[in-house]
Amino acid sequence: MNIILLGPPGAGKGTQAKRLVERHGMRQLSTGDMLRAAVKAETPTGLRVKAVMEAGELVSDEIVSALISDELEGMGRQTGAIFDGYPRTAEQAHSLDAILRDHHRKLDHVIELEVDEEALVERITGRYTCAYCGQGYHDKFERPKVEGTCDKCGHHEFKRRPDDNEETVRTRLAEYRAKTAPILPIYEERGIVSRVDGMADIDEVTGATEAILGFGQ
Ligand code: ADP
Ligand code: AMP
Repeated sequence: MNIILLGPPGAGKGTQAKRLVERHGMRQLSTGDMLRAAVKAETPTGLRVKAVMEAGELVSDEIVSALISDELEGMGRQTGAIFDGYPRTAEQAHSLDAILRDHHRKLDHVIELEVDEEALVERITGRYTCAYCGQGYHDKFERPKVEGTCDKCGHHEFKRRPDDNEETVRTRLAEYRAKTAPILPIYEERGIVSRVDGMADIDEVTGATEAILGFGQ
């Protein structure tokens, strides 16, 4: 099964993708994570995209589509793919069609996480992750069970993204509205779009998503 999780920054795509990975053995393909890894490793791609990401703008379609294509290359055909944060433009949506065709995969579902924009700034500015395993947390909505200790791996160091500040969030939301939301009709025409209330509790969002994907019935 191949699915796209679509929604503005902070909608909960990464949170839900990680749960699907843990529970159903799917694989998360997050272009944001791949780009951050490239920035950290100071690869030529990383050096090219660093400033663009810090400004909250979109990096070029060629770069992200190449990352996705490379990632699928190394994946077994049985493993389901969760596209998280990709595609973000019409150009990327068309590239994804071609990439999936090349890999003999088909797109089964596009799940749109619907959220109130006012809630997103609070979600994003409160977001942090375990520096060791990447588990996601939130100052208010998803705290570790023992303060200062990661639930998943027990480590004590956490980090925040440099682009998770209010000013950059506004740019990222504007990019979403202008370039990403308009790609939904491409998938609506194919009858594969489902909507989930992303303002519900994290567990409820997972339940609704799993129901759409046919898990646990
Ligand atoms: P995205 O990947 O769409 O940018 P994340 O999954 O990283 O968003 O979620 C952003 C922040 O909001 C995280 O800190 C996460 O813990 C929190 N969060 C995610 N889903 C919910 C939810 N349904 N209710 C409240 N907080 C949430
Ligand atoms: P994310 O982790 O999805 O919030 O993405 C963080 C940043 O990485 C974005 O603000 C963009 O600068 C860049 N980025 C991630 N995915 C894409 C994409 N599919 N297209 C263009 N830029 C992207």
